[in-house]
Amino acid sequence: MKKDAVFVFSEEQLGYSFSDTHPFNQKRIVLTLDLLKKSNAITDKDIVKPRTATDEELLLVHEPKFIDIVKKAGKGLISENIGSVYGIGTDDTPIFPNMHEASAMLVGGTLTAVDEVMEGRSKYALNLGGGLHHGFQGKASGFCVYNDSSVAIKYIQKKYGARVLYVDTDAHHGDGVQWTFYDDPNVCTLSIHETGRYLFPGTGAITERGNGEGYGTSFNFPIDAFTEDESFLHIYKTAIEEVAAFFKPDVILTQNGADAHYFDPLTHLYGTMKIYEQIPRIAREIAERYCEGRWIAVGGGGYDIWRVVPRAWSHIWLAMKQFPIPSGRLPDEWLTAWHSTSPVPFIETWEDPNPLYEPIPRKAEITEKNAKMLERALHIVRNQH
Ligand SMILES: [Zn+2]
Repeated sequence: MKKDAVFVFSEEQLGYSFSDTHPFNQKRIVLTLDLLKKSNAITDKDIVKPRTATDEELLLVHEPKFIDIVKKAGKGLISENIGSVYGIGTDDTPIFPNMHEASAMLVGGTLTAVDEVMEGRSKYALNLGGGLHHGFQGKASGFCVYNDSSVAIKYIQKKYGARVLYVDTDAHHGDGVQWTFYDDPNVCTLSIHETGRYLFPGTGAITERGNGEGYGTSFNFPIDAFTEDESFLHIYKTAIEEVAAFFKPDVILTQNGADAHYFDPLTHLYGTMKIYEQIPRIAREIAERYCEGRWIAVGGGGYDIWRVVPRAWSHIWLAMKQFPIPSGRLPDEWLTAWHSTSPVPFIETWEDPNPLYEPIPRKAEITEKNAKMLERALHIVRNQH
């Protein structure tokens, strides 16, 4: 019988670890899974173990020389000088033991999710270990070595011949995926992110629309620092609806970075848990409308791993299983299990406190600016109608 959803996970995903002090910390997957278990929202039957990606699969996107360097780096066989040409051994993306194996495992998890959905065993699939959207063909960047979404999209094209809509709601621009498919008219990338004026990686302007035959299949929605829930959700909902109606995908792949939250230490957006309740529910609706439900979701950024990510990522699974949006107190068992480990006091409810922060004086101005950006970013789509 076809399942509603599968959750791709094994402890091996935790091997992707730069250091104990690095902001990218896969412990957030453990915290999320435990929250779902203690909320009685998931059982062991829902969990599928990831496989590792083969070299042949990585080569669908990545350059042979780069893969070779990553392999050697993880065995301590190259100097940081050589590594830095390939984006590894930097402050952002340091070398760590077995980095090739760990990175290939995250890619394999997303491929596992793809096969579950495309072979019809499950309607939806979630791999929180994936979402490494800054990885380039020949270079690591921004905490990302191999780009699981890029490899997964090439894999979907080759094995299943399907048109893919990639939707990226991480606070950072989904540059690695965008540039990999910039010339490809059969892959559409949509990224909503904090403007690159002050935030890594600096790209993602609305003028980045694709190239050659791929012109018009790359969409960017750069929003202002301090953007709040209403404006974020208005742009996300309008963008995904209009772009999906225009592109008519066969399958949707969503990247679910949870770093657009007010608490996130690396970005300047002012989202609350309200955006994370809605993002996956709207994605699911779109997948139902255009793709007979086919929807694969991956993780991504998210650097407040205690207060934000477990709740935010739980909402993806809850949307897949069509549970109602939960409210009220988090399970006591979960709070008790983790509260002494957390360096910050927990938010003890599914919702954020209201208000979560002091009012922003420039709210109207920011909302207005974002709305104008949306008009300009969608003009290609709107001109077709
Ligand atoms: Zn991010």
